[in-house]
Amino acid sequence: TEGIYQGFIQQTQAHPEKPLFHLPDGRRLSYAQVLHTSRRIASKLIGDGVVPGDRVAAQVEKSPEVIALYLATLQVGGVYLPLNTAYTGSEMDYFMSDAAPRVLVCDPSQAAAHVKRGRDGIVVETLGASGEGTLLAAELEHTEIAQLRPTDPGAILYTSGTTGRSKGAVLTTGNLAANCASLLTSWEYTSEDVLIHALPIFHIHGLFVAVNMTLVAGASMIWLPRFDPDAVLDAMPEATVLMGVPTFYTRLLGTERLSVEACAGIRLFVSGSAPLLASDHEAFEARTGHAILERYGMTETGMNTSNPYRGGPRRPGTVGHPLPGVEVRIVDRESQATLPQGEVGIIEVRGANVFAGYWNMPEKTAEEFREDGFFITGDLGVIDDQGYLSIVGRDKDLVISGGFNIYPKEVEGLIDVHPGVFESAVIGVPHPDLGEGLVAVVVPAGGDAPDETRILQALAGELARFKQPRAVRFVDALPRNVMGKVQKAELRKQYTDLFS
Ligand code: ATP
Ligand code: MG
Repeated sequence: TEGIYQGFIQQTQAHPEKPLFHLPDGRRLSYAQVLHTSRRIASKLIGDGVVPGDRVAAQVEKSPEVIALYLATLQVGGVYLPLNTAYTGSEMDYFMSDAAPRVLVCDPSQAAAHVKRGRDGIVVETLGASGEGTLLAAELEHTEIAQLRPTDPGAILYTSGTTGRSKGAVLTTGNLAANCASLLTSWEYTSEDVLIHALPIFHIHGLFVAVNMTLVAGASMIWLPRFDPDAVLDAMPEATVLMGVPTFYTRLLGTERLSVEACAGIRLFVSGSAPLLASDHEAFEARTGHAILERYGMTETGMNTSNPYRGGPRRPGTVGHPLPGVEVRIVDRESQATLPQGEVGIIEVRGANVFAGYWNMPEKTAEEFREDGFFITGDLGVIDDQGYLSIVGRDKDLVISGGFNIYPKEVEGLIDVHPGVFESAVIGVPHPDLGEGLVAVVVPAGGDAPDETRILQALAGELARFKQPRAVRFVDALPRNVMGKVQKAELRKQYTDLFS
């Protein structure tokens, strides 16, 4: 499989003038222009002393120059390390001392603070949202390309920190290339495609799914600084694909403008990074005629499974089948035996997409891999008789109440169909008798808040007693991070004293 950088070079040679970026101000940036910018950045990186294997960290606003920086890093054999723009002070101290990058590229407004914090041996460069800063100061273009093996690291991506402190996942150039190749074939993504890119680019979804696929296919991106439903709808007539997190779809459904006509030119809507509500999937299809394609992946593995692009239904509430080259199995939480179809257990994956290990954490890495090379995802799932995988929650969110396992997703699904409910999160918090007591945190659909006893009564007819919530709490919204992930640890903290 072709490396990402090599794929980009081939596309640039094939059609140098083709736009890679459509920018909000109407400007277009061609493949050749991006190549020139990336070569200038490469000469800066070389000047800063970057040698193969060195980390190049970036905490910058979304701009096309960031993609040029990513390409430049690959070109010189560096290891690209993007960071969430929300991280501040002591969080950044952790990432900098953990990753020990050669270069940190930050927003011009942050440079003084970083220099003052005395980042030992780290060169601080700046890049602003409009491409200003020191990073582009070099006029000279560096053209030499470092020769990397597929086993060499290409990036370190920190996980989202949903279940604890973020871990740095080391992805090899081979991991990136393999996952990109299998997504290109599965979703039939080609140079004809125009992607609406409204995701952040410090995360696997916006960077390694959306951008890598576009670069290697030779496609174009309508580049939006962030998700705004009107901007996305404005872009649709020119686009063919949208990749989003579930909240994109919830918010699109909240607009009047979403219709069959508005989506006429789009061939594919993708959702991932967090569970898409089955009700949103159905509502979206009813409004637009499009069945959203939901897929499942994680920082450590890239994408693992996907609903079919063609040749089968896209099933709401499922994440589809393993992608080509990816093996998926379900194992028992305790015995670790592989479970038959239909039984819930831990999802394990193996394939060329699976990362090399956690940065600086050899013990953690060893704990998360089985001897036969399968990676323990920490997600719980079940495979149905058609081979579709459903995620029923995270192992860490599993509630054990009175000695019984409760999968939150099962309870949430039954609460969510209640007419007055928009969505819910079911968690376990300390309980004097049961160990953990089940709490349903519910977002009303608007209008009159649903009645707690009615919800509990409806559940009583559907669920064994031990799976019925001991308490229901109504909130305006669930706490979510930028990727739309519900922060269950946050909720558990909030309700920890409920039963004490
Ligand atoms: P951390 O590992 O630091 O706790 P995180 O697991 O949220 O954070 P990511 O790697 O960004 O960090 O997210 C991967 C996780 O996102 C998966 O393990 C899974 O739990 C969830 N996920 C991704 N896609 C889907 C999906 N389509 N449906 C349900 N969950 C999904
Ligand atoms: Mg994780």
